Order: sequence, then structure tokens, then C-alpha cells
Amino acid sequence: PSTSSEGDTIAAIVTGPQGAVSIVRLSGPEALQIAQHTFQPSGKKRTPGWQPHSHRVYHGMLRDTEGRAIDEVLLLAMLAPRSYTREDVVELHTHGGSVCASRALQACLAAGARRARPGEFTLRAFLNGRLDLSQAEAVAALVNARTAAAADSALAGMSGGLGAAVAAMRCDALNLLAELEARIDFDEDLPPMDALGLGQSLAELREKVTSALATAQRGRLLSTGLQVALLGRPNVGKSSLLNALSGSQRAIVTDIPGTTRDIVEAGTVMEGVPVSLLDTAGVREAGDLVERLGVQRSRAAAQAADIVLMIFDATEGWTGEDGIVFGGLWSVDAATEDKLHANAPGTSASASTSQPHSDNAGASDRQSDGAGVRMVSLEEEKQRGLAHRAREPSSNVSRPVPPLILVANKVDIAGDAASAQQSLPDEVRGACSEVVSTSAASGAGLDDLRAAVVNAAGLPSLNTGGRGWAVNERQAEALLRAREALERAAQSMADGLPIDFWTIDVKDALLALGEVTGAEAGEEVLDRVFSTFCIGK
Ligand code: GDP
Ligand code: ZN
Repeated sequence: PSTSSEGDTIAAIVTGPQGAVSIVRLSGPEALQIAQHTFQPSGKKRTPGWQPHSHRVYHGMLRDTEGRAIDEVLLLAMLAPRSYTREDVVELHTHGGSVCASRALQACLAAGARRARPGEFTLRAFLNGRLDLSQAEAVAALVNARTAAAADSALAGMSGGLGAAVAAMRCDALNLLAELEARIDFDEDLPPMDALGLGQSLAELREKVTSALATAQRGRLLSTGLQVALLGRPNVGKSSLLNALSGSQRAIVTDIPGTTRDIVEAGTVMEGVPVSLLDTAGVREAGDLVERLGVQRSRAAAQAADIVLMIFDATEGWTGEDGIVFGGLWSVDAATEDKLHANAPGTSASASTSQPHSDNAGASDRQSDGAGVRMVSLEEEKQRGLAHRAREPSSNVSRPVPPLILVANKVDIAGDAASAQQSLPDEVRGACSEVVSTSAASGAGLDDLRAAVVNAAGLPSLNTGGRGWAVNERQAEALLRAREALERAAQSMADGLPIDFWTIDVKDALLALGEVTGAEAGEEVLDRVFSTFCIGK
């Protein structure tokens, strides 16, 4: 996109490929003229020079440049400035499917329109002052929302909540700047400077920036969601919990240890946050205890996840095998690994107790992903591992294990839930953020578990009633720069540096704030924002 409106007329199919109706949208000074070339209204209105009224729907025939009928359509004109882009907008509602809309688009292009670039309609809305940049981003977030909570948050941003808050901060920064510059220019004529008051204004502004930044974590969670890995030795109920939490019946559950083969992924929502549950399998048919407990795979899964659920069996309490899986999460080098293997008892004997996998069950499960559950291939798993490793600063140092929640499962058949929790060694309890008792069978404790997950993710309660909007990554990055600049200004002031120094910092803050709303966004920033939109938005 370019920062200047180009004055030509753009066209795109703005609806998805499925559905009974498709819409081609035109925007620009020639939208009406192009519509007149291609659209022939039904009934009496067939007079040359016919013009649609704004915000009225007309029925008629769409024709190509040779006059051949393309489709029977509805035409809706929204004339400037009462349109999404504030330009003349014409929509042609065609029949759905892949042919009608693309032929309609072709007809519009032949009549003089240009294919719209990604996000170009919204870019024009922004350039014409209909939306600020944060609102434009909220439009994209709304369309991409995966949960109702994410959509609510996007709506709050779209109605201008964040934009207004940042505009107020810019106003404060401008006042500060005016005050400081007046000092530089006419110090002698002004009453003595109220250094205390200025310092306070700076601090207040910094506080406002900080409170906007506090919404970033929620924004991130709402848009990208959480990856939650379920770990534990075989048979503790990982697959059952995955099914119970996601409300699906797809993960294979059996009495035979080791029947969950690859990783099973299921989508669910916890307090409005989209969550991917990863059931890491674990058991290999052959190999020693460490291998069959899936220690290495658990570690890989744990390091790729945002939250780890370490599940143990409440009927048995914490066992040595649980300890091996748990200890594996922190082992960082080959030496530790060797030690683990050396400590693992009776490798060959216990290998034979592991049952062969049921291939039929595996094969049928692998194919269906309709219920939002899918098998992740080993290949994909490897790539995740590699992608993760690539982010690591050094291959010798493991990424720290993410927040860990211990889950005592099967409390429905454990006589005493409390004693299961008491069986936990201190170092295990100390390493986790919470211990929750659940029953995948009865559903007991699942709400506690969901709350623990959202809590461990550092999500301030979604239902605090306050503002609904949340800043996205780009906005957070700009706000952080603004805050740093304000901190520098406060420091310069404390150090007694000349006023010119402070003004540089306040100007930086002003610029950074302007990037959030787009008041100060250069072409580069706009490109970055609008290139993530899809065509037709
Ligand atoms: P995984 O190997 O850790 O994935 O364990 P599964 O989910 O396959 O469960 C192993 C066995 O424990 C199955 O027979 C389940 O029906 C049973 N199970 C799992 N969770 C519970 C629970 O909360 N209560 C009871 N009574 N049985 C459970
Ligand atoms: Zn399982």
C-alpha cells in the first residue's frame, strides 16, 4: 500500500469461497460508472444514464463487456462519504460458488477497476480518516477471532477504545512538550519552572502507558492462544483428560499402557482463550524405561508448550516412575541423560510388559480430524522441535520448563484426594505453580484445572468489567518505546540535564504513541500492518 490515496477504483471479491452468496466490492471515484457499464437494472429503471440511490438495493442483470449475461445480482451503492472507505462503494451480490463472483470481478476489471491489494479497502478507510490504525487492526482481529472473547475484545478496539486512550496520552505528551519548549525559548519571561509538577505529569503519563501495556498479555493470549502439553507416565489418564477438557472422544483411551502413539492435539477454549491440548504419548514399543516413559519426548513437548500439565494417578500417589518423567523435564545435557538411563531399572524385563499398539485404532483415528482433534505426525513434531531449537541461544542450555501444574487424576476412585497431594515430594511441589485434583471420568475438578491453566498463563481475569480492548504486539512494541522514552526524560530531569535533553525524549515518546494510532505512521508501518490483511478487507 501507499500512503497517498491513489484515486483509482479498486475491486475484489470480499466473501469467502463457500456460501450461497458472494460479494464483489468496488471502491473509488469510478465505482458508479463501472457499475453502470456492467449492471442492468430490472423493470422500469432501464433508462440510459440510470443511477442508483445511495444505500438502496437493486435487482438486475450483470453483463460482461460483450453484453453477455453473467449472473442475476443485487446491487447496493453506498456513496461517499457514507461508506466504509468514505469513497463511492458499490457492491454486487452474486450467486455463490467459484464462477459467478470471479466473472463479476473480471467484468469490473474489464470496465476499468483495478484488483485491490490486501487490506486496501481498510487502508483507504484509514487514509480517509474513517478509522485510526488501531481500529483498522481491530477489524482484522475481529475477522480472525477464534473465540467470542477474542471477538469482543476486537470489537472494543474497533469502536475506538484504544485509539481514544492513546490520543489522550499524545495530548498529555504534547502539553508537556509545549511547556518544555516554552522554557527553552522564553525562560526569562516565565514564572519559575514547576519542576515537581512536570515530574508528576511525566510520571502520570508513564502510568497511563503502563496500564495500556498491561492488556498486551491478554491480547496475545486471545489471538495466538495457549499450547498446553499433557505429560505423565502411561495410564494416568492423559488421553481421558484431553477428551474431557476438549469435549471430544477422539484420543484413544485404553487400559493398556502406551496406546497413545504420536501426539494428539485437540482444540478447546478456556475462559475465552483458545487452547491447544497436546497429549504427548510417550511409550515406544522397545527400549529402556526412560524411553518407554517418553522422557525425551515429554521434555521436547514441555519446552514447546506454554503450560505443562504433569498428571499422576491419585489412586497410587506419586511414584518413582512419575519422578523419572518429572526429572526428565529438567535434564539438560547428555551426562544427566546417561545418569537417568543408568538409574532406570529392569529395562529388558519391563519392555516386554509394554503391549503392541492396536494398528486399526491408530489408523482410523489418524484420518479423522473433524472433531478438532488431529494426529501430529512425528515429522511435524520433529519440525516443531527444530523450530524451537533454532530459537534457542545455545544448544547446551535447555529452555526453562514453562509453568507447571500438577494434576492428581482419578480422584473418583482414590479414597482420599488429600493423601495423593501429600505424597508429593517437596522439590516436585516447589516446582509447580498449582496442584489440582481431577477426575476425567466424572468431570470433577476440571473447572479448577481450567482456572489454573489460565492463571498460570498470567491472564488477568477476563471478567473484570474494565475496558475490553487489548493491545497487539505491534502496538505493545510502540508503547514500550514510548515508556522507555518517558523514563529517559524522567532520568534527564533527575540528573539535572538541560531542558533540551528532556524534550528529545518527550518527542520520542510522542512519535512512538503516534505509531499506535497511525497519527505518526510512516509508509513502512502501514505496509507492515496492511500486508497481514487478506484481499477484500
Ligand atoms: P494415558 O495413558 O495417560 O493417556 O491414560 P488413559 O487416558 O488412556 O487412561 C488410562 C485408563 O485410566 C483408562 O482405562 C481410563 O478409562 C482410566 N481413567 C482415566 N482417567 C480416569 C479417571 O479420572 N477416573 C477413573 N476412574 N478412570 C480413569
Ligand atoms: Zn494416552
